[in-house]
Amino acid sequence: MTAPEQIIGHYIDGQLFAGSGERKGDVYNPATGRIQSQVRFATAAEVHQAIAAAAQAFPAWSETSPLKRARVMFKFKELLEQNSDALARAITLEHGKTLSDAQGEIIRGLEVVEFACGMPHLLKGEFSDQVGTGIDTHSLRQPLGVVAGITPFNFPVMVPLWMIPMALTAGNTFVLKPSERDPSASLMLADLLAQAGLPAGVFNVVQGDKLAVDTLLTDKRVQAISFVGSTPIAEYIYTTGTANGKRVQALGGAKNHLVVMPDADLDQVVDALIGAGFGSAGERCMAITVAVAVGGVGDALVAKLAEKARDIRVGQGLDADVDMGPLVTPQHFAKVKSYVDTGVAEGADLVVDGRDFSLAGHEDGFFIGPCLFDHVTPDMTIYKEEIFGPVLSVMHVDDFESALQLVNDHEYGNGTAIFTRDGGVARAFSRRVQAGMVGVNVPIPVPIAFHSFGGWKRSLFGDHHIYGPEGVRFYTRLKTTTTRWPAGARVAAEFVMPTMK
Ligand code: NAD
Repeated sequence: MTAPEQIIGHYIDGQLFAGSGERKGDVYNPATGRIQSQVRFATAAEVHQAIAAAAQAFPAWSETSPLKRARVMFKFKELLEQNSDALARAITLEHGKTLSDAQGEIIRGLEVVEFACGMPHLLKGEFSDQVGTGIDTHSLRQPLGVVAGITPFNFPVMVPLWMIPMALTAGNTFVLKPSERDPSASLMLADLLAQAGLPAGVFNVVQGDKLAVDTLLTDKRVQAISFVGSTPIAEYIYTTGTANGKRVQALGGAKNHLVVMPDADLDQVVDALIGAGFGSAGERCMAITVAVAVGGVGDALVAKLAEKARDIRVGQGLDADVDMGPLVTPQHFAKVKSYVDTGVAEGADLVVDGRDFSLAGHEDGFFIGPCLFDHVTPDMTIYKEEIFGPVLSVMHVDDFESALQLVNDHEYGNGTAIFTRDGGVARAFSRRVQAGMVGVNVPIPVPIAFHSFGGWKRSLFGDHHIYGPEGVRFYTRLKTTTTRWPAGARVAAEFVMPTMK
């Protein structure tokens, strides 16, 4: 195979920067299986350069009025809309997802930009008059300084946009380390931010792998880290980042259950499961990967699911009439296939087998068809671990309490859903389930931008969910000032704990 000509580099201090690192990663077109470009991994010195640019830009940017910072976001929103076709195409070419799904992720990211346009209001503090005689107290939130974002391959635009608009409008400067598997969109975002009027150094991109991440985790100038990715790495980021004195929010993996009550509309459930299980080839942290059929509804559910799963149109993401594209890399393709093999070996019923799917003319693409397992049990590997592919498992339980127990016993607690017509059951589920995001007759309950996104248990490390009001808190720290002006200040020294008089 000839080496690809295009080498994707970094963006530091307002400039594209090729970098000098020897190490590179291959970027595939998953639909053809060919390496279409390479990404140059930053050296530690180059990451330090990006942090230095962000540190230098911080004083002026943090002193810029929140109104002016928000105006950059208004312009950025317009540019994102104008350039969404090009961005979606870049996502599809490197990730593999369908163009319409890529457009969808851009819109979900854009909603965070819209929320961040209201930052002047969100940063408003609190004021208490006359807390003591002649004394007032006010609280406000100030930016942290240089913050970093480390993002996964599955949403190369949306996940960076969960972080960037919030951090920047709050007055921070930013270093992004995107996934090395689909790095192009990050540079397009940098370009659009510059066009929107963002000063040089406020936003920087370093490409790379563990070396770049470790440099960000240990550099004293970086005040906070937002991470989204798999659980083992999320835990590592959290422990290392906090040990280095940083504020960290680290969102990890998932195993999302959808509970099907006997009174649910089965056709509605099947449509929900097909979209939530197989959309984006299952490469979503909010994908539904386990359907929990309650009280004998399982056999009818599996029959209907199998019929619809076989109808899913698998193909290259650029084609308009396709439901599901390929997996992202040959390594991930092999991993997902081996999980399906393991499920069979451990005794689950593989009702729909997508392992041998091949797309004519694209035989080297990383395609796998939908896979549907029935009679999955809690001890099986395909139940315990996150597969991150188009593999849906069905489990059968007798009653609501057993379904709830199953969801609560799993180590992950990102999202979950219940389908029922019974308000009381839905309410009990929503209140008692151990997960951060709950859907009632909604399969993928990703919170809208003015709420916050995050899981429980081993799906999130840290105290803050991401974007929305939690994002404002994460990217700022509280300062409370107590004020007395001279007329009341002429008092003698006091040696007891101050109380307001
Ligand atoms: P990943 O953990 O492999 O990579 C995420 C980021 O961490 C990348 O930028 C990568 O370069 C970096 N990284 C990888 N290995 C590292 C190491 N050893 N040390 C330091 N940094 C390292 O995740 P992925 O495969 O890109 O993404 C898929 C995962 O992300 C899934 O587990 C999915 O559930 C999760 N995810 C979670 C959410 C959420 O909101 N909870 C959202 C999207 C994706």
